[in-house]
Amino acid sequence: MAARENSSPSCLYDALVVGAGIQGSFAAYHLAKRGQKTLLLEQFPLPHTRGSSHGQSRIIRSAYPQDYYTAMMKEAYRLWAELEAEANTSLQRPTTMLILGRQETPAFQSYWQTMQRHHVPSEVFTPQALARKYPDIHPHGGVMAVADLTAGVLFPDKALRAVQDQFQRSGGTLRDAEKVLSILPGNVITVTTNRGEYQAKRLVVTAGAWTSHLLAPLGLRLPLQPLRIQVCYWRAKGPSAHSHLEKFPCFLGINLNQEVHDIYGLPSGEYPGLVKICYHHGSPVDPDKPDQLDQASAVPDLQILQNFVKSYLPGLDPEPAVQERCLYTNTPDADFILDRHPRFRNIVIGAGFSGHGFKFAPVIGEILCKLSLEEEPPYNLAPFQISRFPASPKAAL
Ligand SMILES: Cc1cc2nc3c(=O)[nH]c(=O)nc-3n(C[C@H](O)[C@H](O)[C@H](O)COP(=O)(O)OP(=O)(O)OC[C@H]3O[C@@H](n4cnc5c(N)ncnc54)[C@H](O)[C@@H]3O)c2cc1C
Repeated sequence: MAARENSSPSCLYDALVVGAGIQGSFAAYHLAKRGQKTLLLEQFPLPHTRGSSHGQSRIIRSAYPQDYYTAMMKEAYRLWAELEAEANTSLQRPTTMLILGRQETPAFQSYWQTMQRHHVPSEVFTPQALARKYPDIHPHGGVMAVADLTAGVLFPDKALRAVQDQFQRSGGTLRDAEKVLSILPGNVITVTTNRGEYQAKRLVVTAGAWTSHLLAPLGLRLPLQPLRIQVCYWRAKGPSAHSHLEKFPCFLGINLNQEVHDIYGLPSGEYPGLVKICYHHGSPVDPDKPDQLDQASAVPDLQILQNFVKSYLPGLDPEPAVQERCLYTNTPDADFILDRHPRFRNIVIGAGFSGHGFKFAPVIGEILCKLSLEEEPPYNLAPFQISRFPASPKAAL
């Protein structure tokens, strides 16, 4: 647990951040580095595994179908390196990443074209070249690949610890096991927790799957859907195939078996000899009751993954050796929410990271920091605005 200091009522902060996942921690880090007296509150004792930011691996890549994401990644890489230097530790390892698909598939084309437009270092593999270079992959049916050579694996537990340490070194205060119960807007915002009351000039809400719950009393109903994700680790069938798995690339399979959502994989890391392969979607869940699924809306994720493994990675045992869980918080278009509250400008929201937000966290933190300081971040933020949702939140205010 983080150290506690006096939590007397009415402490006035320049900024208060709710939620110490990777996004809130980076927002707090940037605010503290800008000289803001900042308090970061986390409901659970740290470290914890009940949100979205824990574990040993997340993919980092430049390849995206949309220009606005690829454009943000340059700064993200720079800021990850800056944190690594400050913390004197390594937070990632390079692996390259294969975007696997068929040339005629529009989504596959979009990745390829965005990489070309942004001059992302890349390599194209015909089906034959792919099979030669990566004998574990069985690229039948015309499946080819474009490799993002900037990609790698980030270490989330280490990253979270590093950014929280640097936040505190910059003068920030982190309190865990302290749940925000209510937010009273105003020029000075009052936040009540299970342990006390705080006041702040600006508030950043980065509460992951709990964001809707926190914002509803402020008249904002965001279309955020928490999903339970099956995180599966797979073993090679024979010992000879085993040795390849550490050198396995990251990959993203696009619509290979007509699945609605992508399938992604990472080389062996957290479990020696097991590769991580997941479906980029899951079953709706209440984040406070992660064991209870509504069977009617549950997604057959395991079956989808087994079909994929059987057809494209036949050297793997099609029964997962280890299964874990994690939470996504999805928006309807899978784009993030990075915006001010439509009525209370000093309340900024970072949410809906839809299972792909980790790699961007240093930039997202910078954007949330700038929005809360009334500065204009140098990015196209139109895709992330709350007003894009048809049921305009204004109606709910
Ligand atoms: C299985 C899996 C694989 C993923 N793979 C990738 C990947 O390869 N690449 C990538 O870029 N991204 C990936 N992601 C997505 C990425 O991990 C998430 O986008 C990111 O971690 C979201 O961070 P967050 O801070 O928004 O949420 P969280 O980590 O959930 O943080 C929110 C925090 O707010 C706290 N909180 C909530 N309510 C309150 C309250 N009332 N008071 C105080 N605290 C509160 C919560 O306890 C929580 O700690 C993956 C996610 C999962 C689950």
